[in-house]
Amino acid sequence: MRTAMFSAQNYERALLNELNTDHGHDLVYLDALLDSDTASLAAGFPAVSVFVNDTVDRRVLNHLARGETKIVATRCTGFNHIDLEAADELGIKVVRVSNYSPNSVAEFAVGLLLALNRKIHRAYNRTRESNFSLDGLMGFDLVGRTVAVIGTGKIGTIFGRIMVGFGCNVIGFDVHRSPEFERIGGRYVDAEGVETADVISMHCPLTPETYHIVGQRTLARVKKGALLINTSRGGLVDTEAAIDALKSGRLGGMALDVYEQEASLFYKDLSSSIVSDDVMQRLISFPNVIVTGHQAFFTREALQTILGTTLESLSEFEAGRTLTNQISINRSNG
Ligand code: NAD
Repeated sequence: MRTAMFSAQNYERALLNELNTDHGHDLVYLDALLDSDTASLAAGFPAVSVFVNDTVDRRVLNHLARGETKIVATRCTGFNHIDLEAADELGIKVVRVSNYSPNSVAEFAVGLLLALNRKIHRAYNRTRESNFSLDGLMGFDLVGRTVAVIGTGKIGTIFGRIMVGFGCNVIGFDVHRSPEFERIGGRYVDAEGVETADVISMHCPLTPETYHIVGQRTLARVKKGALLINTSRGGLVDTEAAIDALKSGRLGGMALDVYEQEASLFYKDLSSSIVSDDVMQRLISFPNVIVTGHQAFFTREALQTILGTTLESLSEFEAGRTLTNQISINRSNG
C-alpha cells in the first residue's frame, strides 16, 4: 500500500526497506514532521505513518481525509499526539505499536538514574580533559532507598523490578492496580505517598489528567534532594516548576529523555545553530540535569518490532483483516 512515512529517520529507512520485502508496500520517506503545513504532502496516500512529534490533530486529520487517507499508523506506543475522536468521525483508522520491548525504556530509565546519581556524565567530561578530581561527584547508595514509579504498566513494572533488584523499596502510584507490580515487590501509595521517595520515575501516558502531574505543588513537597527521571512524555512535568525546584535545591537532580517542547528540537542536529528555546538552554546549563533526545526506546530489538508491527498493520488494513493494534476511541491510555 502506498504510504507516506513522515519523520522518517535514516536509521529507520534501511530497516524498513529490509522488512518491507515481506510486505511489498510502496513506502515514500519524508523528512518533514507532519503538521497542517505539511499535510498536503500526504494527498493521495491511503496510508500515513507518523512518529511521536508529528501533529495529528483535527485540522491535520481533515487535510488527510480530503486527500483520501484511510489509516494513520504511529510508530510508537503513546498516542497523545493523535485526535482519536476526529479520526473516528472522519473514518480514519489509527494503529500504534502497543507492545515492543518495554525493557528498552525501563533499562534506559535505570541508566539515567545511575548516571544522574553518580554524576557519570560529569566524570566522563572531566576525565577527557585529564581532570581526575572527585569534587562534586558524590552520589548516594540506592540500596534501601525509596523509588516511586508513577504509572505501573508494562514499562513501570519492569523499571520497578530492576529497582527491587537494587534493594530499593519500590512504591507505585497508578489509577489501576497491577497484580504484577505487587508480585515483583511494589507497594501502592496515594499521590502524596510519592512525595516520600528519594527517586521518582515517570511511566504513565500523557493525557489531560496527567498533564503536569509533577508540577509546582508536588515539587514543593518532594523529599529534599530527590531525583526525578522522565522517560515517558515531556508534558507530565512542569518544566518551569522543575527549574525552580532545582534552583532551590529541593530537587537534587533531573534526567529527561522527553521534554515539553521537544518537537522543535529532538531528532535534529542543531549543533551548528543557535537554539532559541531558553528553557532548554537553562536546563542543559545545570550540572545536575541530564537531557537525552527521546532515545529510551532505541534498541535494535525495539526498532525491529516497531517497524515490523507498523508494516504488518498496513498489510492487515490492505487485506481487510482485523487490525490487531487499532486504538479504540474509548481508551484513556496514551
Ligand atoms: P502501559 O499502558 O503499559 O502503562 C501505563 C500505566 O500508566 C498504566 O498502568 C495506566 O493505568 C497508568 N496511568 C494512566 N493514567 C494514569 C494517571 N492519571 N496516574 C497514574 N497512572 C496512570 O504503557 P507503557 O508501555 O508502560 O508505556 C508508558 C509510557 O511510556 C507511554 O505512554 C509513553 O508515553 C512512554 N514511552 C516512552 C518511550 C521513550 O522512548 N521515551 C517509549 C515508549 C513509551
